[in-house]
Amino acid sequence: MLRPLRSILPMALLLLASLAPPPVAAEWLSREEAIMGTAIRVELWAEDKAAGAAAIDAVMDEMRRIDVLMSPYKPDSELSRVNRDAAAKPVRIGRELYDLIALSLDYSKKTGGAFDITFSSVGYLYDYRRGIRPSEADIAANLDAIDYRHLELDPKTRSIRFARPGVRIDLGGIAKGYAVDAGIAILKKRGFHDALVSAGGDSRMLGDHRGRPWVIGIRNPRGDAKSMVAALPLTNEAISTSGDYERYFEADGVRYHHIINPRTGKSAGALISATVIGPDATTTDALSTSVFVLGPKAGMALIESLPGIEAVIVMPDGRMEYSAGLKRP
Ligand code: ADP
Ligand code: MG
Repeated sequence: MLRPLRSILPMALLLLASLAPPPVAAEWLSREEAIMGTAIRVELWAEDKAAGAAAIDAVMDEMRRIDVLMSPYKPDSELSRVNRDAAAKPVRIGRELYDLIALSLDYSKKTGGAFDITFSSVGYLYDYRRGIRPSEADIAANLDAIDYRHLELDPKTRSIRFARPGVRIDLGGIAKGYAVDAGIAILKKRGFHDALVSAGGDSRMLGDHRGRPWVIGIRNPRGDAKSMVAALPLTNEAISTSGDYERYFEADGVRYHHIINPRTGKSAGALISATVIGPDATTTDALSTSVFVLGPKAGMALIESLPGIEAVIVMPDGRMEYSAGLKRP
């Protein structure tokens, strides 16, 4: 005897349900890897663990790809090729590197030369890990090569040329933020809504932390890695900190660190930490380095002139200052 259809359907559904894999609860996934000479961290809320892990793989691969393109330490990187050849002849480069150099030049103009990727013309003479620094004579001999106006970009051939010998470029003040944005773009494209990508002092968040803001701490520049001077609740934003404690050594009571004042060829000393908050990490990375070099007055003036950008700075005596948008009314 045939059973009525009504009773077969639920049975069929039951069978299908038992064949499907058991439902997995959504969860936070996170991973940290050492790439670009820094710690790359990805956190995301994954409905599907395998898709989440694959997305983290893709972000890490993207970081390695950008590093291979832009590292000044890899002799085969596109950037190293520019440093080797651009004083002798125009060097054709890929769109990504071209655009990031062009953007860096915009920041140089906006900051009166405080942000300048040709800082490396002198900057490369420092080795912070080995405690090596240039002599006053070495600095004097190379200082004229620091000037973003020595960079000639030709959009037609998409090439770069140095106007004089001795010029070197280094994208260390903007490339990590750029890489973080590239990582976030991958996660967005794959449909993730709540995520964080960070590269050392540069972070960007997608969405929030499941209904609550992300809370990002600003490190105490003179404390250990866990000591914080502020905690900022953030949603869908980027934040970068430039500090004199990241890469430095001390000699004769002077702290030699990796953020160089292009006017002097020496470490910038007006601040010990500069944090910038904004819509994307390329912007906040370039601006945190800029504010660090500009110092409290000109640095904060720049921030107040830019809509949607905020900053927190720490002076050498430990005093802190917040931009207007962060102060309580
Ligand atoms: P971190 O590397 O600690 O995240 P920053 O974003 O401030 O901090 O980047 C510092 C890096 O920026 C340096 O290691 C160097 O590569 C680069 N840099 C140093 N001085 C300047 C400058 N005046 N303009 C642009 N880039 C700079
Ligand atoms: Mg920076």
